[in-house]
Amino acid sequence: MSRLLFLLAVIVVVFLLLRAYRRKAPRQQDAAAEAEAEEMVRCAKCGVHLPKSESILAGGNFYCSDAHRREHTSK
Ligand SMILES: [Zn+2]
Repeated sequence: MSRLLFLLAVIVVVFLLLRAYRRKAPRQQDAAAEAEAEEMVRCAKCGVHLPKSESILAGGNFYCSDAHRREHTSK
């Protein structure tokens, strides 16, 4: 009987470990995907490449700074 309880305990531990692992794994994949998904855009004024989240979007063009946006759009 004690052997059966031990076997049951092992199954429960394995199940819990698998569940914890599965819960953890997709989060790591999401973080990696997000880091890779950061799109690089080019400043329409000076041509420098920067992450899309740090760029300024105006009139369908990306700019590295507000100064370049103003210079380029004022022409
Ligand atoms: Zn620029």
